[in-house]
Amino acid sequence: DRAAIPALDAHSFPILQQEAHPGKRLVYLDSAATSQKPQCVLDALLRFYTRDNANVHRGAYALSARATDAFEAARAAVAGFLNARNSVEVVFTRNATEAINTVAYAWGLMGGRLRAGDEILLTVMEHHANLVPWQMIAARTGAVLRHVPLDPHTQLLDMEAFRRLLTDRTKLVALPHVSNVLGSVQPVAEVVRLAHAAGALVLVDACQSVPHMPVDVQALDCDWLVASGHKMCAPSGIGILYGKERVLTDEMQPFLGGGEMIENVYWHRSTYAGLPHKFEAGTPATADAVALAEAVRYLSKDLGGMPRVHQFERQMARYLYESLSQFREVTVHGPSWEAAGADGRAALCAFTIRDVHPNDISAIVDLEGIAIRSGHHCAQPLHRDVLKVPGSARASAYVYNSSEDIDALVRALHGAVEMLGAQLTLVPL
Ligand code: PMP
Repeated sequence: DRAAIPALDAHSFPILQQEAHPGKRLVYLDSAATSQKPQCVLDALLRFYTRDNANVHRGAYALSARATDAFEAARAAVAGFLNARNSVEVVFTRNATEAINTVAYAWGLMGGRLRAGDEILLTVMEHHANLVPWQMIAARTGAVLRHVPLDPHTQLLDMEAFRRLLTDRTKLVALPHVSNVLGSVQPVAEVVRLAHAAGALVLVDACQSVPHMPVDVQALDCDWLVASGHKMCAPSGIGILYGKERVLTDEMQPFLGGGEMIENVYWHRSTYAGLPHKFEAGTPATADAVALAEAVRYLSKDLGGMPRVHQFERQMARYLYESLSQFREVTVHGPSWEAAGADGRAALCAFTIRDVHPNDISAIVDLEGIAIRSGHHCAQPLHRDVLKVPGSARASAYVYNSSEDIDALVRALHGAVEMLGAQLTLVPL
């Protein structure tokens, strides 16, 4: 009885035009892991290699100048997309993981900003990418990790606990904008305000927000923000590190040395290039950056802009959440729709089904052509110690999905559970 939600754009994605198995349409519900790519992005990649490929920032010939211009235009496009003040605040990396490691090493270690006894304040919902690098830096510097818990009743970030854990020892706060397991949106602007008042800098892991909603780094006032191109319609191999110009300039020292990042090199020492090149050692992923700019153009223009994408995803978030939580045997992890409030949940649900292993769920629904993820989604501590389940299944939607895809998932879940000798019953209204 709920209104159907058509996809924003399913036709531009050639990979979705195939069958997953004979007679079974591919229903792709794993965009939190990686997104599919529209034809225009595939074309941009091919066009660059067909017409414009040369190494950047090196040659004096026209082709190299064209490649360099395209690469730097891509940086400007990303800066505009995030509303950065200046495009030198955008550093290209391989992925979000490398962006976080760059901050950990270049700021915490090479920049000497972390000392024994300093505290790094994370949350219990961190992806391993925003946990393991800090463990490594803590081991080298003697800094200490702390983790903000969830409110046990709502599964929202416990802001009271955050206030308590934030002290004059806290040098850094790092948190996900949107959790890739709980689907919850964190109050990042509030976290930044409190952290800055306590003298700490803030890194926002925006992997699950930048592809799905407007993100404005100046409005958030965060010191760093990271995202991965491959989750926002761009190729894999290109990631984004945004950093405030002052922080990138004054508080960080490069940790990868080599070509592109230098000014003058002598036998025993070197001077470094200015921003952003000093953090981009070696030949960059030029074509992938150019294709990322095309993805940004696609989201901003062809799809009508991020407010429209977000509006669509809010409907999908609700449809997905309600579709899964109508069954007594299904637990959707993370805050309830009511607890999360308006705009509080992304179009992503990690769930478990009583007496059924999540791997079995995803393997059986795959027979119906439905791609969902199962496992710990790179958040082992969250699953083990907070949710207290060995893993979960996760369905996540993007601009090419429709409510029909979610209906197909629910039908397949019924089939899977029956195959395993259990059943799904409706929660009485
Ligand atoms: N943080 C979050 C919240 C993520 O969802 C992911 C990707 N699963 C990452 C970090 C790491 O992204 P990548 O593997 O592209 O570096």
